[in-house]
Amino acid sequence: MAFPIPSRQLFIDGEWTEPIKKNRIPIINPATEEIIGDIPAATAEDVELAVAAARRALKRNKGEDWASASGAHRAKYLRAIAAKIMERKGQISKLEAMDSGKPLDETEWDIDDVAGCFEYYAEQAEALDAKQKAPISLPMDTFKCHVLRQPIGVVGLISPWNYPLLMATWKVAPALAASCATILKPSETASVTCLELADVCREVGLPPGVLNILTGLGPEAGAPLACHPDVDKVAFTGSTATGSKIMSSAAQMVKPVTLELGGKSPILVFEDVDLDKAAEWAAFGCFWTNGQICSATSRLLVHESIAADFLDRLLKWCKNIKVSDPFEDGCRLGPVISKAQYEKVLKFISTAKSEGATVLCGGSRPEHLKKGYFIEPTIISDVSTSMQIWKEEVFGPVLCVKTFRSDDEAVELANDSQYGLGSAVLSKNLERCEKVTKELQAGIVWVNCPQPCFCQAPWGGSKRSGFGRELGEWGLENYLNIKQVTEYI
Ligand code: NAD
Repeated sequence: MAFPIPSRQLFIDGEWTEPIKKNRIPIINPATEEIIGDIPAATAEDVELAVAAARRALKRNKGEDWASASGAHRAKYLRAIAAKIMERKGQISKLEAMDSGKPLDETEWDIDDVAGCFEYYAEQAEALDAKQKAPISLPMDTFKCHVLRQPIGVVGLISPWNYPLLMATWKVAPALAASCATILKPSETASVTCLELADVCREVGLPPGVLNILTGLGPEAGAPLACHPDVDKVAFTGSTATGSKIMSSAAQMVKPVTLELGGKSPILVFEDVDLDKAAEWAAFGCFWTNGQICSATSRLLVHESIAADFLDRLLKWCKNIKVSDPFEDGCRLGPVISKAQYEKVLKFISTAKSEGATVLCGGSRPEHLKKGYFIEPTIISDVSTSMQIWKEEVFGPVLCVKTFRSDDEAVELANDSQYGLGSAVLSKNLERCEKVTKELQAGIVWVNCPQPCFCQAPWGGSKRSGFGRELGEWGLENYLNIKQVTEYI
């Protein structure tokens, strides 16, 4: 589907601003491989301008400084952004489907979630005022003490491409609710809707400099932002490899970071499940968002007594998954994001085959699609725990299967991973679910489902999936400094 992509510039200090080096990056539609537009490419000089604008926004002299604006004042802008996004939902969700290759009905849900997240943090901004000066009881009555929650300051927000606008919103909305001034660097692979967010902020009159948006390459725009001495905190979502670089550059300045990184999440299917329902969940947990969810439950652990029956049903499910252009009715799996990602996923599959794994379905481009970065839903069995495909994040529609014989073995296999982001437990025995939930090394456990996500609940991982939590009240705390105030009376 052809849909006009607005030509945008960087968004700095409330203005569209041409990058100093005037470079642009082509936008490629992953479903057609066609260039459909371009985005501006920021470099270190543009980062300087954006950081200075954010710093000014925190402290303006005309009584309009963002750092001390009331919660109600900030909430007004957050709600206006949410309303404007809903007004433009049709356009934004289409742009996101073209830019990312995600099925259109998924991007429509994502845009609802974006608006919902801004609404939620509007409430949190208001609630923050009520939490100020919370008294602390002390053992001596000659002192009194309270706590102030103050904005961290200027924050650098670096986001990935799999949920382009939603992942950015998980950072922008709480940071603005906390009164921080922000610089967002979305992924160069899918930035179009983040630039529409800039336009929305311009339309609602968000004060200049409060949100700056710099599109561009990671090393050229992200790295100078992350290590800028005037950026007080970095919140990053992306791969573990990039997260590690950001953490080491932040360490030079003892700069706080939150890191939402990769995953290789397990889904545990016990012998007492409803087989049809469990097969549907297993397919959904791995293949949603074209298999490109950080928390994709891409390691399937199934009790050996039901494995054959269960896999039969799962394979039937996979045959019914419609792989097509994201705009086609009923599309359930679009292309992966880019040529590089397409080649990477196919390489994972061919390496697994050469190591002795069996491809039960999929494994290549669907025959009916001659162009685009499409890969069929792929299920791989006969994997050992030492194989790359079992250990590493594929970030594509690839599900690996292993069987287990006991609850302990299931947990042991699930925890045998460098990652610890999501995990799902499917069983009718809720006592077992509770026990297994406690034993799983993961930041998120879903019971009898995979993947639901609510902006009220904490999101984040352990081990090499990162640290810190986004969303909920934890997401707001990320952007606040806690100040103890103690008075002698
Ligand atoms: P990526 O690490 O390649 O890029 C993420 C962002 O970092 C992009 O904006 C990129 O331009 C920027 N970047 C790249 N190099 C940089 C550098 N040297 N300094 C600063 N910034 C730099 O990740 P991706 O391919 O965009 O996203 C996929 C990854 O994100 C997967 O590993 C996925 O699991 C992870 N992810 C995690 C979560 C979570 O909540 N834990 C959510 C979504 C995606």
